[in-house]
Amino acid sequence: MTTLRRRTGGITIKSAREIALMRKAGLVVAEAKAHVMDAVKPGVTTAELDRIAEEIIVKMGATPSFKGYAAGGPIPFTGTICASINEEIVHGIPGDRRLKEGDIFSVDVGAIVSGFHGDSAFTVGVGDISDEAQRLIDATRESLKRGIAQATAGARIGDISHAVQQYAEDLGYGVVRKYVGHGIGRALHEEPQVPNHGRPGRGAQMKRGMTIAIEPMLTIGTYETEQLDDGWTVVTEDGSLSAHFEDTIAITADGAEILTTPSGYYF
Ligand code: MG
Ligand code: MG
Repeated sequence: MTTLRRRTGGITIKSAREIALMRKAGLVVAEAKAHVMDAVKPGVTTAELDRIAEEIIVKMGATPSFKGYAAGGPIPFTGTICASINEEIVHGIPGDRRLKEGDIFSVDVGAIVSGFHGDSAFTVGVGDISDEAQRLIDATRESLKRGIAQATAGARIGDISHAVQQYAEDLGYGVVRKYVGHGIGRALHEEPQVPNHGRPGRGAQMKRGMTIAIEPMLTIGTYETEQLDDGWTVVTEDGSLSAHFEDTIAITADGAEILTTPSGYYF
């Protein structure tokens, strides 16, 4: 079978068949997220949560996107999920660390179905958390929704970036700049980059058949980041709390189809 690949400035446009495969990948990711979320509680290790995600992905006939991923650090990533706690923003490595009451926990997970990736993230409180932490989580989720609302054919990537930035900064949060959303498809990271800060009307124009991952990362303090010595974990430079939400979406004739949260369970 030959796939005709249409490109717009390096951005791949997916056929209906390809989007159907990405919808399947999104369902696997959604299922993995739901199972991990159900298992988050004080005392559980991030390795145990990683195993839960991997079992679901494999059981559904898919492959974890991140395990063995080598393009982001000096050593390949060892987890199925990225497990980032409190001031850790993204790319935390699952291990023996136990979640504690009051932590906030960010999970990023990806899966491949028939060669196509889905990529999604959420942050959740562990047991009872502070009002300040809950507000950060709620604002990050809302900033993603506002970004997604801008993802329509004819609009530009900067419209997404601006919507996220304006909402988050009006509330006084830092918006991480160094790490960004991205096109997604046969590769986990494709063009275009989808920053969480920027100006409306700028950047690539969105077209039907484009698939992108939008992923705001907000902090209570600075947007400056540091990478830990493990080569992966990214933390806030000032140690402030951070939250992360991400969905893979497809641009359709009627706006964005959210592939990785089809049932909208956390919205
Ligand atoms: Mg992700
Ligand atoms: Mg991503």
